[in-house]
Amino acid sequence: MNKRLIAYVNGTFLPLDDASIHIEDRGFQFADGVYEVIACLGGNFLDIKPHLQRLESSCQAIRIPLPCSLSELGSLVQQTYEKNPFTNAMAYIQVTRGVAPRSHQVSESMTPSLIITVRDLPMPSDEKLAEGASAITLKDFRWGRCDIKSIALLASVMGKQEAAANCVDEAFWLDSEGHLLEGCSTNVFALIEGRLITHPLGHHILGGIMRKMVIRVAEKAAVKVEQRPWKLSESGLTECMMSSTTNALLPVCRIDGEPVGRGNPGPVAGKLRAMIIDELEVLRGR
Ligand code: PLP
Repeated sequence: MNKRLIAYVNGTFLPLDDASIHIEDRGFQFADGVYEVIACLGGNFLDIKPHLQRLESSCQAIRIPLPCSLSELGSLVQQTYEKNPFTNAMAYIQVTRGVAPRSHQVSESMTPSLIITVRDLPMPSDEKLAEGASAITLKDFRWGRCDIKSIALLASVMGKQEAAANCVDEAFWLDSEGHLLEGCSTNVFALIEGRLITHPLGHHILGGIMRKMVIRVAEKAAVKVEQRPWKLSESGLTECMMSSTTNALLPVCRIDGEPVGRGNPGPVAGKLRAMIIDELEVLRGR
C-alpha cells in the first residue's frame, strides 16, 4: 500500500511498510515525545529553521536531548524528502525519549528515537476556499502546556472526532471564561473592528509558525494586529480565520452553526491568504 514511501527510523532509510519502532519505545508507552510538521513546496522547505528551533524548544521543555544537531536534522529531513519528492510535501519529525522497560521513571541514559516521514501535502479544495471552513467550539480539556508540540494528541483527536460528527472542519478550544484559544491543529484569528486579534503566546496555545507568518503579512498589509484574549461574542467581529502549516490561512465562515459576519469568506482573510499564497508560490518556483 505504502510501498513507494520511504521513512527514516533511527539511522536507517527503509520502506514505510517495513518501518517500525520497539513496543517499549516511550513514545508508544507514554506519548513521551515531541514532533514537527514542515511543508515543502517544489522541493523548498517553508520556514525550516523556526520549525527545527521549535522542535529543540519542545525537546528542552521535556528534557529529551536532541538526537543530533539542528543542521544534521535539517539534512536528514532533506534526504528523506529526496526519497519522497512530492511537489507539495509535508515532513513529519518525531522525537521520543527512546526505548526502556516500562516505568514512569526516566533514566538519564536513554537514546532518543528519531523518525522522519514525508507525505503528499493535500491542498484545500476550491469549494472549501469559496465557501470557507466551519468549526465548532469545545471547552478546553487539554493539558496546561500546549506550547510544547507533544505527540500526546488524544484531546486533539477527540476534538477532531467531534468536529467530524458535526460535519465541520475544526474544533476550537475555549478557556473557562469563553476566550477562543486555538483549534485542534490550527491557530485562530478574528477581525474585530478592523483589527486582527489572536490569543497571545503562552502555555495555552502552540506558537504556530504560520501564525507568525500571518502576523507578519497582516502588518505588511497595514492591518493592525493585537495579541490578546478574545471572545466570539465581541461586537464588531466580522471575520474569523485559522492558520496552520498544512492549510496556510483559511477563512472560517460558520462556527457552532452560526454564520461569522456575513457567512462568506471576508476581504481581509482573502487578502492575507493571497499574500501568503504569493510568498508560497515564490518559494515553490525558487
Ligand atoms: N495549534 C495546534 C494545537 C497545532 O497542533 C498546530 C499544528 O499542528 C497549530 C496550532 C499550527 O501550527 P503551525 O502553524 O506551526 O503548523
